[in-house]
Amino acid sequence: MKAALLASALIAVCALGAAAALYSQKHLQRNQARLVELHRIMADAQRLQLLIADSKVTIRHWMLSGRRADREISARSGEQLRDVGRELSGRLEEALRIRGLPSIGAMLEHVLRVRDQAHETIEQYGIEAARELSLRAGGTDAARQLLAVLEELRRALEAELGDVDRNLWQGQTMALLLLGASALAMLLLLLAAVGLLARRHAAAERSRAELDARGQEVATLFRMGELLQSSHSPEDIRRIVSHTAEELLPDLPGAFYVFNNSRDRLDVLGVWGHRGLPPRLPDHFAPGECWALKRGRPHGRVAGDSLRCDHAADEESCTLCVPMQARGEVYGVLQFFGRADVALPPAQTELAQALADGVSLALANLALREKLRNQALRDELTGLHNRRFLDETLPRLVAHAERRGAPIAVLMLDLDHFKQVNDRYGHAMGDAVLREVGALLQVRLRRMDIACRYGGEELLVLMPDCSAQEALRRAHELCAQVRGLRDQSHAAVPAVTVSIGVAAWPEHAEDMAQVIQAADAALYAAKRQGRDRAVPAEAALAGTALAGLPAE
Ligand code: GH3
Ligand code: MG
Ligand code: MG
Repeated sequence: MKAALLASALIAVCALGAAAALYSQKHLQRNQARLVELHRIMADAQRLQLLIADSKVTIRHWMLSGRRADREISARSGEQLRDVGRELSGRLEEALRIRGLPSIGAMLEHVLRVRDQAHETIEQYGIEAARELSLRAGGTDAARQLLAVLEELRRALEAELGDVDRNLWQGQTMALLLLGASALAMLLLLLAAVGLLARRHAAAERSRAELDARGQEVATLFRMGELLQSSHSPEDIRRIVSHTAEELLPDLPGAFYVFNNSRDRLDVLGVWGHRGLPPRLPDHFAPGECWALKRGRPHGRVAGDSLRCDHAADEESCTLCVPMQARGEVYGVLQFFGRADVALPPAQTELAQALADGVSLALANLALREKLRNQALRDELTGLHNRRFLDETLPRLVAHAERRGAPIAVLMLDLDHFKQVNDRYGHAMGDAVLREVGALLQVRLRRMDIACRYGGEELLVLMPDCSAQEALRRAHELCAQVRGLRDQSHAAVPAVTVSIGVAAWPEHAEDMAQVIQAADAALYAAKRQGRDRAVPAEAALAGTALAGLPAE
């Protein structure tokens, strides 16, 4: 727009300059033609004056001298006045008429006539008579009158010449002024155009730099996506997000919150840009405290003009919360901290959103992978590991134990009279009992113990680094805990008991299959001995309970 304006102004100024040049040229031509005309008239008038003067002088000279030679000179002068003078007077008539001066044609004729008469008189009657005649005829007066008219014409012409000169000077000055103004305006416009070009160039440079920065950001996000695809744990994701956020938004420290398993709380998984973080950053908050989670979209507080999230921690800093959601599930929140008095630029908000999108997808993938893994390796009803997991894990566990020379104990559990539970309370209640027993095992066992659903209502527990004696002690505890399940569990389940067979590697057999068989045999013994008890493998073989360890 500005460039178009400048171009139009430049064209206008050029046109003005050209018009000025044209006008001055025309003006000059007109005045020059007038000058030539005036000079011509002036020359004609002067020449006529000279001819008249010459005619007067030559005739007077002849009258005085009376010589023949002077008569010839006077006669030639008279002839010249007749021929040339008539022509000149004819040419001057128009100029005289225009200037309001009397016509000189008649005057000239009178002068010529008087002169001719003077010549004839001199030749016939002598010089004196001719003088007399000349005086009577008024020849001298006529000549004087003619000369006076010519003199007046000359003065008028001189005045006009002065006018033309002034005109020329004014025209030239005007043209020079116009040309000067045009040149100045053109110079100014050119300077403005150069300025405009420089500004455009700078703007183009800026947008190129901005494009480069955008490209860099896209590349960084792309790299983050790649890395996230290879991530295997929330810790991997935390490291990738922190690293990328510091690279993409170096002035914007932040924190990475994810939902806990029961989804009633968000725990901080990581932070970045430590120096800019508020001092009282909470390590967890409830979902209801975050407007971004409640609205399901980014929520930012800018200089107090928007609702502050309750978890925002700091009155001073401006926060932006971006929910991480993918495939219809919300996984957590990315929280950014900026200056409260400066609104977050839209570009930064967009980057924060892009970051959250990438992470959400990675979290969704991780959750999906975890779910699939659980489905493959865990029993759906009890949440315990399944037989497949057991088969996969056992060789590794044994190899590890062998290397360290540590024992592995096996508990084989079977619910007592479970058919009756099903019969009396229904299959669903049977399922609930199995779920409760599975949950109990997960809570009561050590972290390193591995509980599996071995089949039906039979459960197997692998206890690394555990002797048969220690395993038996824990099995007794488990029997007591299952017995108390009805009172302790939230679900209204009927009272059940469990029988447990206990064996250990390498105490009872050299390979795990035999150890499991031994535990199974011990379980069978426990059933036979009246159920609701734990029986060790040795005792199973001996047909007695382990001495010194009561069943309850
Ligand atoms: P015992 O004390 O001798 O073990 O008697 P029991 O009735 O428990 O006999 P057994 O262990 O042979 O019975 C297994 C029963 O467990 C058979 C089946 O109805 C029941 N059961 C197996 N799996 C499930 C399950 O997933 N859900 C329910 N509700 N019942 C199951
Ligand atoms: Mg049973
Ligand atoms: Mg059974």
